[in-house]
Amino acid sequence: MASRICDSVLVTGSNRGIGLELVRQLVDSPSPPVQIFAGCRDPSGPRSQALQELAQKHRDVITVVQLDTTSLTSIAEASKLVETKLKGRGLNLIINNAGVNVPGSLAETGIQEMVDVYTTNVVGPMLIVKDFHPLLCKAAAQFPHQTNMSCKRSAIINVSTLLSSITRCPENFSVSPMYPYRVSKAALNMLTRCLAEDLKKDGILVMSLHPGWVQTEMGGPKAPLTTAESISGLIKVIASCTEKDSGTLLDWEGKNIPW
Ligand code: NDP
Repeated sequence: MASRICDSVLVTGSNRGIGLELVRQLVDSPSPPVQIFAGCRDPSGPRSQALQELAQKHRDVITVVQLDTTSLTSIAEASKLVETKLKGRGLNLIINNAGVNVPGSLAETGIQEMVDVYTTNVVGPMLIVKDFHPLLCKAAAQFPHQTNMSCKRSAIINVSTLLSSITRCPENFSVSPMYPYRVSKAALNMLTRCLAEDLKKDGILVMSLHPGWVQTEMGGPKAPLTTAESISGLIKVIASCTEKDSGTLLDWEGKNIPW
């Protein structure tokens, strides 16, 4: 029987796009996590219908959690609920997937665009980690092989992008200028790097992952990858990463992307 990727996982922004497909493939895997916490900001709204249907089909595994990653109250209530549902166990894996993009040429970008995108793409993941840190520590401490790092034990995955790479910017800037998005995801990578250093002592692996250019509302219909293709790759990478990958940016095929 295939080994379970982890016992428990929280996915933010899981009502559509990459987040929804992550929850779908995790629950459909041969050895699914025992508990999947599917965060979304409006669980009873029309945009969460597909997630609610999936959760109904897998009531014993999926818990839909109201989670607006930019709201302190929402994060605090979500972490309380997750803690209660874990019944004394830790949380193994957080996938900070929720993200936004806006049209972003220099002419289109002002204070509001920069601040709004930064708030969701950087401040949100930071606040989530801060609040859920004790649950991640608990999971790390409960793992029998105390020296190894893995997503099975305790980890944070920040969903980043190739467009965050400062090294690769010259080759793709003209196609996608996107000032607020690129700058925010480069900052998210620094958050990854800082957390990887900081949380090493707790046994928590932290990395950024690029899902590829994917057919979602954000990626648009011209993207070469379906969510199914991207996520099956991402899940393989998540399942195989170890301490040597902590603090890095990998793509959905496990290839390293320079910062
Ligand atoms: P979508 O626009 O299709 O979905 C974004 C998801 O994030 C939605 O579920 C949305 O919820 C949620 N979200 C946004 N803001 C918040 C918030 N404040 N609180 C909670 N949830 C929120 O995007 P994708 O699925 O394509 O993108 C997912 C991640 O992958 C993002 O981080 C993105 O940057 C990254 N990515 C995507 C690529 C692509 O080609 N698609 C390429 C590289 C990276 P709601 O329905 O409520 O708006």
